[in-house]
Amino acid sequence: MPRTPLIAGNWKMHGLKDALGFFDELAASGAVSERRELLVCLPATLVAAAVHAARRHGIRIGGQDCHTESSGAHTGDISAAMLRDAGADFVIVGHSERRADHGETDDIVRAKAETARASDLTPIICVGETLEDREAGREEDVVGRQLAGSIPPVFGPADYVIAYEPVWAIGTGRTASAGDIAAMHAFIRSQVPDGEEVRILYGGSVKPENAREILALENVDGALVGGASLNAESFAAIAKSS
Ligand code: PEP
Repeated sequence: MPRTPLIAGNWKMHGLKDALGFFDELAASGAVSERRELLVCLPATLVAAAVHAARRHGIRIGGQDCHTESSGAHTGDISAAMLRDAGADFVIVGHSERRADHGETDDIVRAKAETARASDLTPIICVGETLEDREAGREEDVVGRQLAGSIPPVFGPADYVIAYEPVWAIGTGRTASAGDIAAMHAFIRSQVPDGEEVRILYGGSVKPENAREILALENVDGALVGGASLNAESFAAIAKSS
């Protein structure tokens, strides 16, 4: 089965209602096509309104995190069921900013992926090594361990998406080399059951200038884009490179 490219934006903690004109701009750019899936993962406050603005263009909406439980006494948290109810189709889990800022372990990420799937969302499970790990040559050990711990063993290849995001390349302007990306994506594919069918995205300072080279790599099935997804023109240019 061919793996349809997925170009996913992550707005992080950016965006107010007046930013939602983004979806009309993105559609007008001609980036929407049957050749690729377009997704934007938004702050929870914008999900419902963004679904309204994006769905008519065939653009998908996702959340950036969910709780491990579908409801309960967890003040301030958002559940996968709530995101689904608001119209989301995807949710990012285990982003390195959540792993670092909120102490999220592989066990927590796995539980979030499970609850996301149970609520009919596709989790985008993020993995990636730190600069220290890479300089010590242990990037495959680290990523291998994250994959083993974060992907629920019952998942089939269509139940989730992986995003490989080297921590040192996120928001820094530094991109991994094409050789490093290719090697890590091939490694990841070899590590997961039915790996040929799993979509593996690259994330880390993807921008219009480097998107074509990255997205052409053999085991790269799309991108998770932070900073450059905040602007419809640059996100569209990245999408059109797939
Ligand atoms: C991200 O937020 O997942 C990301 C890759 O950010 P940036 O593209 O800004 O590096």
